Amino acid sequence: MTEQRCSGLAVLGSTGSVGVSTLDVVRRNPSHLGIRALTANSNYQLLVDQCREFQPELAVIADPSAFSSLAAGLRESGLGTRASCGPEGLEEAATLPSVDSVMAAIVGAAGLLPTLAAADSGKRVLLANKESAVMAGDLLIKAIHRGGGELIPIDSEHNAIFQCLPGASLPDGQLDGVVRIVLTASGGPFLDTPLEKLTMVTPDQACAHPKWVMGRKISVDSATLMNKGLEVIEACCLFATTVDRIEVVIHPQSVVHSLVQYTDGSTLAQLGNPDMRTPIAYALGWPERIPSGVGRLDLVALGKLEFRAPDLNRFPCLGLAMDASRQGGGAPIVLNAVNEVAVAAFLKQEISFCAIAGIVESVLAQYAVDMPNSVAEVLETDRVARELAREKIKSSRL
Ligand code: NAD
Ligand code: MG
Repeated sequence: MTEQRCSGLAVLGSTGSVGVSTLDVVRRNPSHLGIRALTANSNYQLLVDQCREFQPELAVIADPSAFSSLAAGLRESGLGTRASCGPEGLEEAATLPSVDSVMAAIVGAAGLLPTLAAADSGKRVLLANKESAVMAGDLLIKAIHRGGGELIPIDSEHNAIFQCLPGASLPDGQLDGVVRIVLTASGGPFLDTPLEKLTMVTPDQACAHPKWVMGRKISVDSATLMNKGLEVIEACCLFATTVDRIEVVIHPQSVVHSLVQYTDGSTLAQLGNPDMRTPIAYALGWPERIPSGVGRLDLVALGKLEFRAPDLNRFPCLGLAMDASRQGGGAPIVLNAVNEVAVAAFLKQEISFCAIAGIVESVLAQYAVDMPNSVAEVLETDRVARELAREKIKSSRL
């Protein structure tokens, strides 16, 4: 196992929030970090701009209908960057021989196959795409073992925990002496909104996160606290533990990113301004530290830090995710798939904010499935769950 920082990087989802922050950290560390591949869903203009600056070997647009525009943009810019598209293109970006590390920053289930491909080919996987860990945590860890690479969490909470754990890299890290992992949650924009007003909130209100600037899907997940629920499942996968050893605590300032409690009474925490460039730089530089562009934390200006227990009545999605984690089998896949469909419907104003939890709960009750043994079974469970979710949404609007 190599213990050196990454040098040849593929950024999957380079046009998104995490992708853009990753490129900003790379820009600040030009002598150490080189970009070999960039990918996007359909935003070929930004992808071409990024190629002009970082001159990768390969640029991939997932949406085949945007391929000719990407190819033309690269040609007109006089770049040597090769263009590709579709799932094969994403997989190629994740497995290029010149790539040693892959930033997995595609949003949702679409990130699963390229993330698994990177793991299988022995890359260092910098995991932002938490949905991969939720849907196929077991398969992901097995793929990392098979490939002989490493996994470094990008999600700020898991990155914080990783920083607070003793030594070793994942997935072989030790939890010796650890009694509890504490995940912090900001509580999102509706932490103190009167409950009766929640059903009226709009997508823009749900996406106006008080502390973090993120993509729209994860912003809604942060408002329902489904994001924290997915992170509980992600933590169980990454740190080989169970939901009973994980506590979720609301911390509105979003400065303490998570904590690890040890058997001797010690609690270690990682603190910093809420900016994804810190966990990204930690992962890109690991095991060294590199500049991220994030300012120093000013404790005196901050004054005080608050912590509260989460109210599962206000945030039923958190309870549903913790139950799905306890239940195991295919429940986390169903939870994730139905949530993605319900969030997309909320963003299109087809259902109310409060309906998200109800749809997730009813499909979970209807569709119980055993632990999948293969990627094909994971994808089939995901497909069926999405279909059931769409039916529920349709019938709820009739
Ligand atoms: P985003 O919506 O801003 O960006 C998503 C990226 O994925 C874009 O580059 C988009 O082009 C690409 N993409 C979308 N659909 C795709 C598809 N079907 N095929 C291929 N590419 C596709 O999302 P984000 O906020 O950057 O989040 C990315 C991932 O990181 C998510 O899994 C999220 O949960 C996780 N994450 C994000 C943050 C954050 O601060 N934004 C923090 C922690 C974890
Ligand atoms: Mg997080």
